[in-house]
Amino acid sequence: MRKKIVAGNWKMNKTFSEAEILITEIAEALDEVDLKGAEVVLCPPALYIEMATDVAFESNFTVGAQNVYPSDSGAFTGEISPLMLKELNVTYCIIGHSERRKYFNETSEFLRSKVESLLKHNIIPIFCCGEVLPEREANQHFEVIKRQLEESLFHLPVEAFMKVVIAYEPVWAIGTGVTATKEQAQEMHSFIRGVIAARYDPATAGSTTILYGGSCNGKNARELFAQPDVDGGLIGGASLKADEFLQIATSF
Ligand code: PEP
Repeated sequence: MRKKIVAGNWKMNKTFSEAEILITEIAEALDEVDLKGAEVVLCPPALYIEMATDVAFESNFTVGAQNVYPSDSGAFTGEISPLMLKELNVTYCIIGHSERRKYFNETSEFLRSKVESLLKHNIIPIFCCGEVLPEREANQHFEVIKRQLEESLFHLPVEAFMKVVIAYEPVWAIGTGVTATKEQAQEMHSFIRGVIAARYDPATAGSTTILYGGSCNGKNARELFAQPDVDGGLIGGASLKADEFLQIATSF
């Protein structure tokens, strides 16, 4: 189902005590604002998920994980399974973030198995796709995004695909302060919907939630979210400050 979502990807930031303060600040602030039907998702480091879901239980946000290993249990030292996330009431999990593709060599095939294992436990994948700058400069960005979707998502039957949230995150915009223009974001989101319509059907394309990510902040969120095919944002740096994150979350 198509939703408006603002998700904060904290990455590897905040100590436990800092995280407690930030989560409390966000939870309190959310009591005071009109989200206009949007859903706020916090994706803290895995160590803080239980604390976050405890607060979320009495607040107006849901919790996402930043990573998962595609197996229910086993000899995978250091990893976290979808079953473990599910028992902690995790609703979403980010998959395919460019940092994981780059620093941890995650392949499309591996991402495919992550998506499947999350869906098996009713955790919603937030599937990130995005081109690097040389690909955009070579005008290859559309084919890159299409390939990423085809390789990791398009094997899914329609009922499963409809549960996935997509985040378009041009890699050149992540953490750089260079945001895609509203025209660039709309153009790619519309393209993604077209690709989904061609693989599945127009109704499925119309009901898919597609977020924008990449240096989205309190100043530019409103014009990005006003684009007809942009359903919200995946927010990195600006999700680490309660006031700015709330400003973004109320930008619909
Ligand atoms: C991200 O890491 O998903 C992201 C969008 O980061 P930032 O907002 O800092 O560019």
